[in-house]
Amino acid sequence: MGRLKGLSSRLSPLRSRVPHLSHDRQTYDRRRDEQPWRKWYKTARWQALRWSVLVRDRFTCQRPGCGRIEPDTSLLVADHKRAHRGDEALFWDECNLQTLCKPCHDSDKQREEHRSGR
Ligand SMILES: [Zn+2]
Repeated sequence: MGRLKGLSSRLSPLRSRVPHLSHDRQTYDRRRDEQPWRKWYKTARWQALRWSVLVRDRFTCQRPGCGRIEPDTSLLVADHKRAHRGDEALFWDECNLQTLCKPCHDSDKQREEHRSGR
């Protein structure tokens, strides 16, 4: 038993990091749930704004070099050119929105993540 005790005390600096980690993850989850702008995407106002952006851009992906015309609007995304990060003015600004096809939007999102990592 004495041997086990010695082992656990040797492990304790390592173990003390574990609650720390799970606490961080909980905070992260809670923060994600609390992002109020996620609800904005479900409003009629957003649906109307998104539609007017798609019509304005003639259902054409605005990414340079793509220009795909997508008649299936479920495959189009009204994308915020400048990440709104919860900023209401940026979120609802039609000038800050562009039509992207889903493949472009998804690759843009990855690029955005790289950018914010800098
Ligand atoms: Zn595209």
